Amino acid sequence: TKEAIENAKNNEKDINAFITIDEENAIKRAQEIDKRGINPDNLLSGIPVAMKDNMLTKGVLTSAGSKMLSNFKPIISGTAVNKMLDADTISIGKTNMDEFAMGSSTETSYYGRTHNPWNLDKVPGGSSGGSAASVASGDVLAALGSDTGGSIRQPAAFNGIVGMKPTYGRVSRWGLIAFASSFDQIGPLTKNVYDNALVLNHIAGHDEHDLTSSDKEVPDFTSKIDSGVKGMKIGLPKEYLGEGVSDDVREAIKSAADKYREMGADVEEVSLPHSKYGVAAYYIIAPSEASSNLQRFDGIRYGYRSESAKNLDQLYVKSRSEGFGDEVKRRIMLGTYSLSAGFFDAYFKKAAEVRTLINKDFQNVFQNYDLILTPTTPTPAFGLDEEKDPLTMYMNDILTIPVNMAGLPGMSLPAGFSNGLPIGMQLIGKPFDETTMYKAAYAFE
Ligand code: GLN
Repeated sequence: TKEAIENAKNNEKDINAFITIDEENAIKRAQEIDKRGINPDNLLSGIPVAMKDNMLTKGVLTSAGSKMLSNFKPIISGTAVNKMLDADTISIGKTNMDEFAMGSSTETSYYGRTHNPWNLDKVPGGSSGGSAASVASGDVLAALGSDTGGSIRQPAAFNGIVGMKPTYGRVSRWGLIAFASSFDQIGPLTKNVYDNALVLNHIAGHDEHDLTSSDKEVPDFTSKIDSGVKGMKIGLPKEYLGEGVSDDVREAIKSAADKYREMGADVEEVSLPHSKYGVAAYYIIAPSEASSNLQRFDGIRYGYRSESAKNLDQLYVKSRSEGFGDEVKRRIMLGTYSLSAGFFDAYFKKAAEVRTLINKDFQNVFQNYDLILTPTTPTPAFGLDEEKDPLTMYMNDILTIPVNMAGLPGMSLPAGFSNGLPIGMQLIGKPFDETTMYKAAYAFE
C-alpha cells in the first residue's frame, strides 16, 4: 500500500488521476489487514484500489469533480464502496472525473484535467478518466467507475485497460451521486479480464437500499472463464463500423472478428438500425434526469454556499451559479427545457419512444446471437488541447450510449494500438449475462 501511494504521488505531477489520495486511512487499513493476516482464499485481500469521486466514502471528500461539493465529506459510504471494503481491498483515494460525470474527457472537472498515461498530451477519456488513468499508470490494480453513457468503457478504451458496465441493476447505485438514474451503473476498471470478473463478483447483488438493484442470483464470474468461444454466435453490427469510425479502429475490430472466427466462434454481420438515434435521445433523457437529480444542490443542506447572498432566492441562485460549471449548467437547462409542460411530448416522450426502438433492435439480435462486437469509440484518444464543441464531444459516445439505453451489459477491452495509443473493442451481452462476455474477453486477451 505504501508503494502504491508513493507511486501514485509521483505520477500525480504528470497525470492528476486523483482528487484525493487518502494516505492516512489507507495505511491504517493496511496495518489492520497485516495484523489480521491476508486471507489466502480471497484474491482481493490487501489489494490497493481507487474509487471514482462520485461514490460516497465516509469521512473522505466526495466532490463528484465539482466545486459544489468541494467541502462534502459524507457520513456514510455507498454500497459498492462498502462491498469493496468487505472484500478486504484498500482504497488509496478518490479519482478525478468530469463534473457530476458529465463529459467524455475529464476536462470538465473543477480539480484540473487528467492526462492520458500513454501520451500526456491526450485526454484519458471520461467521465471515469481518473479511475482509468490510475489503473493504466500502475497506481492500483482496480478502480471503480460509473457509466451513464460510456463513462467506464470509453476511458478504458483510451487507456488500454478492461472496463465493464454491468447490466442495469446488477450493482447497487446506493451512495453513487446520481446523474441520470435510469442509465447509471457502477463497474470495475482493471488491467485484465480476470481481475475485472473478480471485482464484479464482490460488488454485484441486490441491495435493499436501491429498489432498481436486481435480486437475480450473482454467479461466480471467474468460474469457467477459460472455457473459450467455440460455437458462440457473435453479431457485428454494420452501423457501428460506418461513417465517423476511423480506419485504424475499423481494422482493429475486423481483425478481432477474424480472431474470434479462428477460435471457433461464428461471427456474422447484424443490424441495429435505431442505434444512430441514441445520442440524440440520450441528450434529452439524461439531462432531464440530471436536472431533476441536481435540484438537491441548493446551498442549504450540504455543499457549496455562496457568501454574497442577501436573501433566500439569492442563496439558491448564487450558490448554484457559482457552484456548478458550464457543462453542468448546460445540461440543467437542456433538461429543464425538455421536461417543461409545453415541450414534454415533443422531446422527452419522443426520446423515450426511441429508447424502446433501440432496445427492440438489441432484443431481435439477441434472439440469434450470444454477443455483439463493436468498437468502443470511433477514434483513439484525442488531444487535450484540441478545439471541442459540445456536439462533437457528445458524438464520442455514439457507440456506447445505446447499451445504456437498453440497460445491457457492455465492456471494453484492448484491441490493438494506433500511433502508440490504445484502441478498445466493445462486447455487448444479453441482460445479466456478463459471464459470457467475460469468457469471450478472456479468450481474446
Ligand atoms: N459522455 C457522456 C455524457 O457526457 C456519458 C457520461 C457518463 O457515462 N457518465 O453524458
